[in-house]
Amino acid sequence: MQNTLDRFDKIVRDLIEDEKNNPVAEFVPSDELYQRLDLSLSKQGISDEMFEEALKDLVLKTPRTATNAFFNQLFGGRNEKAVLGDLLAVILNNSMYTYKAAGPQVGVEKVTLREVCNLIGWDSSADGTFAPGGSMTNYMSMVMARDAFDRDIRKNGVSQKMTVYTSRESHYSIPKNAAFSGIGRDQVRYVGSDKHGQMDTVDLEKMIEEDVKNGYAPIMVNLTAGTTVMGAFDPIRKVRQICNNYGIWLHVDGAYCGSVLFSDKYKHLIDGIELVDSFSFNAHKMIGTPLSCSIIVAKNKQHLYDSFSNDASYLYQTDHDEFNLGKTSLQCGRRNDALKFWALWKSVGTKGLEEIVDHQFYLADVARNYLRNNTDYTLYSYDESISVCFNYKGIPAKTICTALYEHSELLVGYGSFNGDEFIRLVTINAQNKEEDILNFFRLLESFVEEHDELFENALTTEK
Ligand SMILES: *Cc1c(COP(=O)(O)O)cnc(C)c1O
Repeated sequence: MQNTLDRFDKIVRDLIEDEKNNPVAEFVPSDELYQRLDLSLSKQGISDEMFEEALKDLVLKTPRTATNAFFNQLFGGRNEKAVLGDLLAVILNNSMYTYKAAGPQVGVEKVTLREVCNLIGWDSSADGTFAPGGSMTNYMSMVMARDAFDRDIRKNGVSQKMTVYTSRESHYSIPKNAAFSGIGRDQVRYVGSDKHGQMDTVDLEKMIEEDVKNGYAPIMVNLTAGTTVMGAFDPIRKVRQICNNYGIWLHVDGAYCGSVLFSDKYKHLIDGIELVDSFSFNAHKMIGTPLSCSIIVAKNKQHLYDSFSNDASYLYQTDHDEFNLGKTSLQCGRRNDALKFWALWKSVGTKGLEEIVDHQFYLADVARNYLRNNTDYTLYSYDESISVCFNYKGIPAKTICTALYEHSELLVGYGSFNGDEFIRLVTINAQNKEEDILNFFRLLESFVEEHDELFENALTTEK
C-alpha cells in the first residue's frame, strides 16, 4: 500500500503543478481520443512504471474542474477538507446499509442529516438519506409522493392516472423519474413561469383543477430552488397552500441552490422550506464537496421507511433500524457519501458553510456589476442568482463557448430562457476570487479580439 500512496502523491503533485500554468487541459477532440491516449486493455498486464505513466497521461489530459477556468456546470473547485474526507471513505470502503458494516460512519451520516433537519426547523420525526445525485434524490421524492397517495401501489402496481407538476424551467430528471415510477412522462404538467423563471402559481392551480375535472389524481408538486439555467427560486409558501387544498405532496428540488439553507443572508430564498414534505440538495454543487453528495430529507421519516424498506434477513442481523441505514435508502450496497460533507462541516462549522454560499453570491455580484458597466455585453439574469447569463457583442453564445473550449481557453456553457440564448457563467466555485471573475471577462475579450476570423459573421451582422 505504501507504494500506491507514493504513486498517488506523485501523480496528484504533477497534476496540481500543471494546473497552475494550464488551468484548462489540452483539448482532446472526441474523434481523436483513442489516437491521442492509449486506453486499450489487453490480456497481459504492464509494468508498474508503464502503469504509472498511463495513469499520469490520462490524469493530465482530463478536463480540469477545480481551476479558475472552469465555469461550465453547476460544480467546480476542490475543497481540501471535503477531499480528505472522501479519500478516507475510499480507503475505508464501508457500505452504509448496516451498523455492522459501517459502524461510526453511520453516526457520521445520521449527525449530518440531523443538523440539516435542525436548520430547516424539523424535529426528530424528520430524517433523510444520501443518494447518488440530485436526479436520484428527486426520484426518491416522487416515489414517496406516489406511495403517500396510495400505499398499495407498491404491491399492486399502478392503476390510476396520476399527475405531477413542475415548472418548465425545472430539471429533466422530473419527466425521467415519472417514467421510472410508473406515473408516465405524459403525466408531467409543465407550469409556466414569470420573467425571472419562478413558477406561476395561478397557472399551477388552473392546471390542477383541470386535471381533477378530467379524472386525474394530482399527487405531487416539484418546486425548484435554483433552476438549472437562471438560478430562480420557486415560491414555496404560496404553493404549500395550494398543495394543502388538494392534498398534494410538495417537494423542493434544491440540487443546485438549496444550500442557501446554510446562509442567514440568502435562506429567505427558500422561505417556507419547513412546510414542505421533502427537500433535496446537492452538497457537490454549492457546498463544493466532490461528486456526488446529494441529500434528501423528509419531514415525516415514516415515508422513507414506507417506500424504501425491505426485510432482508441475510442483511439486517444486528442493531435497531435507526442504525441500519439500508432501511431508508435507494440502493443496497452504498458508498459513504456523508463523510466528505461531514469532514468539511466539522472543520469549518456551519459558519464556514455559510461563507462558502455567501461568497458565490458575491462573485455573481462582481460579474453582474462588470457586465452592467460594459456596453459590449447584454445581461439576462437578475440579482440573487449565481447563474450570470449574458451575451458579448451579439456573438451567438454557442459559437463563443465552443471556440473557447476547442482552443483550451475557458470551459463555460450556454443556456436559453424566454427565447434568448446566452453564455451562462456559474460562480459556484467558492475558491475563486473577484480577480478570477474579472480575469474570465478579460480572457473572453482578448480571445474574441485575437480570433476575430471565427466571429466575423456574427460581428458583421451585428453592425
Ligand atoms: C443538477 C441538478 C439536478 C440533478 O442532480 P445530479 O446530481 O446531476 O443528478 C436536479 N435538479 C437541479 C435543479 C439541478 O440543478
